[in-house]
Amino acid sequence: MVKLVILDREGVINRAVEGYVLGPEQFEPLPGSLEAIARLHHAGYRVAVATNQAPLSRGLFDMAMLNAIHQRMCRLAEAAGGRIDAIAICPHSPEQDCNCRKPRPGMLLELIDRFGAVAAQTIMIGDTPADVLAGLAAGCSTWLVRSGHGQATIDSGQLPSQVAVGKDLADAVQQLLTEHAARPPEGGLAPPRGDSAQREGGSEHAARPPEGVLAPPRGDSAQREGGSEHAARPPEGVLAPPRGDSAQREGGSDHAARPPEGGLAPLPASPADRTSP
Ligand SMILES: [Mg+2]
Ligand SMILES: [Zn+2]
Repeated sequence: MVKLVILDREGVINRAVEGYVLGPEQFEPLPGSLEAIARLHHAGYRVAVATNQAPLSRGLFDMAMLNAIHQRMCRLAEAAGGRIDAIAICPHSPEQDCNCRKPRPGMLLELIDRFGAVAAQTIMIGDTPADVLAGLAAGCSTWLVRSGHGQATIDSGQLPSQVAVGKDLADAVQQLLTEHAARPPEGGLAPPRGDSAQREGGSEHAARPPEGVLAPPRGDSAQREGGSEHAARPPEGVLAPPRGDSAQREGGSDHAARPPEGGLAPLPASPADRTSP
C-alpha cells in the first residue's frame, strides 16, 4: 500500500512571498518544513508537491527557472534527510479553465494515479482554500496549516469541519505520525488491504466531497493570481520534458483515458522505482 502525502509549496514548504517565487534564491524554507518532509520519508510516505504556477503562462519565468527552483527545493529536502518524490505543476492561468489548477483536483488525482495510491488514504496539506477544496474534491484526507495564508483561511470561518489543522507542516506531520502510530485503521472508506499500519488521515469523513462552504473556486483563485492579466500563448498540458521517471504510471490505472493535465514534472535525479508490494 503506497502511502502518499501531497504538499502545497508556498506557505507550506517555503515562505510565501509578495508576488511569486521567481528564482531559486527566493525559495526560503519555513522552519521545520524540510525536517518534516524527512520524517514523512522515513515513515514510509511518498512525498509529492502540487503547485499552481500561473506565472508560467504569463511569461514571468520559464520551465528552466521553475526547474531550478525545484532543484533547490529537492536538494534542501535531501540535505535534511528527506526526499520529494514528485512535483506536479499547473502551468495555466485561471482564465484557461484547466482541470489541474487547484481548487480543481486534477494534479492530485494524477499524483494518486501515478503512485498507485488510494485517494481516501492520501493526505493533502495546504494553506489556502484552493488547497483545501482540491484535497476534498480528490477525496483525500485534507489538512490546513496556519503558516502562509493558512491563518487567514481559518479566520474566514469557512473551513469545512472535516479538515484537520496544524500550526505548520512540522506540527501537521507530528500529528499525523503520532496518530498513525496510535490509531487503528477505520475501514469503510477503502477496501481493506491487510495493512494494519495504514492510517485514515484523522477524519472519518475524509472521502466526502467538499461541502461548498468555502468561496467559489474560480473567484478565489483569480484573486490570488492577480485576476485578468492577459496571457499570451499559454503553455498546454505537460510542460516538463520527460526524464524517464520510473515512477510514472506505476500503478494499475483505471484512468488511462484521462488526459494528462497536471504537468507532472519528474525529478531530475529520480532513483529506482520504489513501489511497495
Ligand atoms: Mg500555498
Ligand atoms: Zn492547469
